[in-house]
Amino acid sequence: MAKEKKSALKEGKGVSVSEITNLSRIKTIKEKRKSKINTEALVASILNKNITALSRAITLVESKNLTHLEQANTIIKACLPHANKSIRIGITGVPGVGKSTFIETLGKHLTSKGKRIAILAIDPSSTLTKGSILGDKTRMEDLVKDANAYIRPSASGDSLGGVARKTRETIILCEAAGFDVIIIETVGVGQSETTVHSMVDFFLLLKLAGAGDELQGIKRGIIEMADAIAINKADGDNLKRAKLAKVEFNRALHLYPEKSFNWHPKVTICSALKNEGIDAIWELILEYVAITSKNNYFYEKRNEQNKFWLIQTIEEQLKSDFFNTPKIKKELENQLQLIETNQTTPFAAADYLLKI
Ligand code: GDP
Repeated sequence: MAKEKKSALKEGKGVSVSEITNLSRIKTIKEKRKSKINTEALVASILNKNITALSRAITLVESKNLTHLEQANTIIKACLPHANKSIRIGITGVPGVGKSTFIETLGKHLTSKGKRIAILAIDPSSTLTKGSILGDKTRMEDLVKDANAYIRPSASGDSLGGVARKTRETIILCEAAGFDVIIIETVGVGQSETTVHSMVDFFLLLKLAGAGDELQGIKRGIIEMADAIAINKADGDNLKRAKLAKVEFNRALHLYPEKSFNWHPKVTICSALKNEGIDAIWELILEYVAITSKNNYFYEKRNEQNKFWLIQTIEEQLKSDFFNTPKIKKELENQLQLIETNQTTPFAAADYLLKI
């Protein structure tokens, strides 16, 4: 296209309508080409430990755009043979217990040993508010600057299942990008702990020393999931109470049967702020990995988790397909009204909708 024509087009004079249409078509094709992601190149960069490429791939995983999701699937498939090599650690605890501080201290400890670590989060509240627990990266000020650490805030989504799926896929991408340790943080809300537990090798519960009655207020399920409990803020005036809490937790944990794979949950105390007891927790994790690798539980658990996620993904997909069918959307409204006016039962309504 001649230069004069282009500038004429800019000014909107002396150009026919068909020429304008032609020009804009060329422009659109060029733009499309520019935005077209070369998935092969992206995978190669990820395997080359390129963080920008990793972030781009994660953005594709998190996208709602169908083309992006297809690209994400291609990338994940290509990354899969290079995944599976990290230690995946889940960390949970109520807000304020010191999770960020702990992860920052543990993270620095690991990067100082030459390890590369990725930190992800599952935040059920972000599915509602679209915010996220790692959104405020200043919470891990030093780690953010560390070239061997990668922090990715929780994906937001319509359901915990959806967010969890994205996190599972992000783990694969991070592993392909050569991260040795993946930490997944979550808050003790709803089902988020169970979700994180189903995607990690080692599950750590952070606690604070309370005034006696240590097991009060903890969901029994969490104790059963924990491979270790760390009582944080064991410093200053709190040290004595933390030590007492440790005794109490240990006593309580012994009431639970030993886990089948030769591991009894351990209780430790630490101070994330003062960097005390953090290295011991890392050693504990390594001990766990050594024992469970030897008796094969480590790999069996990952297999079980994969099977669980297969079923989970099918369930999510079926549910979403069902509720997004236009006819169901309309009929559901009707059935809800019939229920309100007592003209049908929930079971009859469900039966009707499922048979549409
Ligand atoms: P999160 O909400 O669980 O992520 O908790 P944060 O890491 O944001 O910590 C909450 C507060 O507890 C902050 O003011 C931290 O400085 C403080 N904190 C965290 N770890 C410790 C610790 O080991 N000892 C003491 N004394 N304070 C701590």
